[in-house]
Amino acid sequence: MSHATSAMPARVVLDWRHGTIGPPAPCVLCGHPAACRSPVKDVPCHKGCAENWITTHARDDADRARLIRAYTPGRGEPR
Ligand SMILES: [Zn+2]
Repeated sequence: MSHATSAMPARVVLDWRHGTIGPPAPCVLCGHPAACRSPVKDVPCHKGCAENWITTHARDDADRARLIRAYTPGRGEPR
């Protein structure tokens, strides 16, 4: 377990290489047309919006890491 000393949250970067593309539909977060689909929830969502959402909603470093894992598919997962 590391001792976090930084006050500023680290930039969230999701790996959405496995995400799919579909016809433009309103992003679930910002409402603007998005062709990108969340690879985990399969809903229209900008990658940047998801990253900002995690940055905003994460309570601390551990929670941010948990959210990044939750919204990143196929990273060392068995399936
Ligand atoms: Zn968006």
